Amino acid sequence: MKTKGQRCSFCGRNNSETLMMISGLEGHICDQCADQAHKIAEKELNFSTQSIPLENTILGKSTKKKLPKPLEIKAFLDQYVIGQDQAKKILSVAVYNHYKRLDSRKLVIENDIEIEKSNILLIGETGTGKTLLAKTLARILDVPFCIADATVLTEAGYVGDDVESILSRLLQVANYKPELAERGIIYLDEMDKISRKGDNASITRDVSGEGVQQGLLKILEGTIANVAPEGGRKHPDQKYIKLDTTNILFICGGAFDGIEKIISRRVQKQVLGFKRGSNKEISDKKLLSLVSPPDLRSYGIIPELIGRLPIITALDELDRPTLKSILSDPKNAILKQYHYLFSLDGVDIEFEDAAIDFIVEIAFEHKLGARGLRGICETILQDFMYTIPDHKGKSNLLITKTIAEEKWNRLENQKFAS
Ligand code: ADP
Repeated sequence: MKTKGQRCSFCGRNNSETLMMISGLEGHICDQCADQAHKIAEKELNFSTQSIPLENTILGKSTKKKLPKPLEIKAFLDQYVIGQDQAKKILSVAVYNHYKRLDSRKLVIENDIEIEKSNILLIGETGTGKTLLAKTLARILDVPFCIADATVLTEAGYVGDDVESILSRLLQVANYKPELAERGIIYLDEMDKISRKGDNASITRDVSGEGVQQGLLKILEGTIANVAPEGGRKHPDQKYIKLDTTNILFICGGAFDGIEKIISRRVQKQVLGFKRGSNKEISDKKLLSLVSPPDLRSYGIIPELIGRLPIITALDELDRPTLKSILSDPKNAILKQYHYLFSLDGVDIEFEDAAIDFIVEIAFEHKLGARGLRGICETILQDFMYTIPDHKGKSNLLITKTIAEEKWNRLENQKFAS
């Protein structure tokens, strides 16, 4: 708004020399100074709404480094995740290809060939390492990465988080820079919890099932989403950041409890079709590895969404040797953590092999999986952790099978008695 006689309080220009003069409480600012001030603020706050040159981004820096090859990614995962070779290979290749796609997008115009992204679906019982795989990947990735949970999502307009809220997380990790978030990876957990709730659910709307799947489908396919930077529910006065999801890689995970029955029915039908009367039993473990799109459809995932998850892989059930290895072998194995914890109080703790077998047996028998291993160790070591900080000087502590059994049984009996 220009009024005669005004001068810019910053540069002193008369309003006849400016395009625009903005008035404050006790002064004025001309369009040129306002522009200058905006540039300074932008530089100082490192928060730009304009495009950031790629070489200044995390990814830009990483592409100048060596791209991690699938073998290298797998070797890194091997240090933290026991077994699950197939899933590790698939993830390593998918992540490597993701980098390559991002890198080769400049060449697309010349070649006319665009590599499409391949989102992944990991299926495996709870506690088999799906989240651990995703978290471990995040440690080597140079692109923004976040973990989101599908159970909190509901169809837009209903209580719960909008599907776009998972993008807010990624945006936050990418320091609110859409250019970076658009190259990121999202691990979406509990995918099975948004399956369609059966055919007779039409009386009440299935706001947390099919509606969410439809919302996810859009994001997985690629859309320009309006993302609320702070996450949560959208409200009318909020400012949105536009995010193109075309290049965001989605890794989805879920336990899909009971899917073995669906696979079994399908497989048995096929077997019978070929060999009448064949009643060949296929173990549950083997069954899960045979999972295919029709099974997911029967489970309640809409076909369009399945189509957007071209890589489906099953995680192995954890057997006794794997559980034993999980206890002692990974870089941050549970037993190594206890060893370090006790060493801080001057105690050198060791576990007899038979004691480790006992812990594994409890986890296996009670179907507690890898997640239960820590709980069992806590129970066995509770008394020691209570008294040892008062202990002066250095000492050794050997956890034998007898000690493990005695501590476990006593505390378990106490639980039942109370
Ligand atoms: P999921 O996501 O499949 O339910 P998690 O990845 O959360 O399971 O696993 C739970 C815990 O069990 C992890 O924190 C990890 O300590 C342990 N764990 C599970 N699977 C493995 C594995 N294959 N290798 C090493 N640790 C594992």
